[in-house]
Amino acid sequence: MFGEEKCGCYVVHVELDELEIVYCPKHKAIDDLYEALKALYNGTPDMFNAKLKAKQALAKAEVK
Ligand SMILES: [Zn+2]
Repeated sequence: MFGEEKCGCYVVHVELDELEIVYCPKHKAIDDLYEALKALYNGTPDMFNAKLKAKQALAKAEVK
């Protein structure tokens, strides 16, 4: 089954038997969001940098 998810992710046929997921901005940013959230929640000696990274991750996720 193929098609586009509500969020914008979709699956493409790159070869006859090979599929590739093209992620929407939100899901493309998931690693950055995860790391940022973890640092903010657990605390880090460098909160300024952690907040900066969270801001960048959010900007990446919110690209239209
Ligand atoms: Zn998505």
